[in-house]
Amino acid sequence: FSEGDPVAVISPSSCGHCTWCVRGEDNNCAQSLVGRGYGQDGGLAGYVLVSSARELVKLATLDPVVAGPLTDAGATSYHAVKRVLPRIRPGGTAVVIGTGGLGSYAVQHLLALSAARVVAIDPVADRLAYAAELGAHVTMEGVTSDTAREIIALTGDGADAVLDFVGIGPTILAGLRSTRRGGAFGLVGAGQGHLPQVSLYDLLPKDGEVFTFQASTIADALDVIALADAGRIRADADLFPLDRVVEAYEAMEAGTLRGRAVVVPG
Ligand code: ZN
Repeated sequence: FSEGDPVAVISPSSCGHCTWCVRGEDNNCAQSLVGRGYGQDGGLAGYVLVSSARELVKLATLDPVVAGPLTDAGATSYHAVKRVLPRIRPGGTAVVIGTGGLGSYAVQHLLALSAARVVAIDPVADRLAYAAELGAHVTMEGVTSDTAREIIALTGDGADAVLDFVGIGPTILAGLRSTRRGGAFGLVGAGQGHLPQVSLYDLLPKDGEVFTFQASTIADALDVIALADAGRIRADADLFPLDRVVEAYEAMEAGTLRGRAVVVPG
C-alpha cells in the first residue's frame, strides 16, 4: 500500500494466528466478535488505526465512501449465499426474507453467482421496490401464514435455499416450511425468534442443511469488493454527514434506509 490509496477496511478484526484464522475461517476467531463500530472505537471517526495490512482491501474503481458496507453487510450476506449455492438446482429458486441492509446484498449475490429465480420478501414497500430494481424475479409483501404455501405453489416442491435476514418466529417457521427436501435454510437475522410447539423432525428440510449467522471471512470481503469493482453488484448507501449522525441511527431504527447508512466525517 502507498499513501493515498483508496481502501476498504475489513469489518471484523481477527487475530491472524489462531487455529481458525490460519485455516481461513477468521469469521470464527474469538477476536472477530468485536469489530469497529460494535465494541471497538473507530466506526465514526475521520481516521482509524488498523493492526496490519491484512485488514485492508485495495479498491480499483470503487469510491471508499460507498465501499464501507461491502466488507460488512455485503460480505456477511455473501458468506451465507456462497454456502447455499451447491443446493440450488438448475431452474431452482432462492428466497430472501428481509431485503434491508443485508438482504438486498443477498439478492444481488444470488443473481450474480447463480441462475436461481430469486424471491424477495419484505413488509416495507420501498425495500421491495429496491429488491425488484436490483433484479429480484418475484416480490412478496411480508411473511404471512400463507407464505410457505405460496412458495410451494410457485416452485412445486419448495425453495432450494431460503435465507432469513429477520430471524423472528414467523419468518423462521415460514422459511423452514418453504425449504424443499435437500434444500438449505440459513438463519442470519438476529431477531431471536422462538418456534411454537412444532415437530422439528417434520419441520426441518429432510436431507437438507440448516445453519445460523456466521459473519464473514477476509476472503468473502475480497470477493465482494471484486464483484463491486467489476460492476457485477451495486454499492448503494445513504450518506449522512457526521453532524446528522443521529438522523442516520433514527432512520435505521425506523427501517426507512434503502440500504446501509454511511456517515462521512469532516
Ligand atoms: Zn484468530
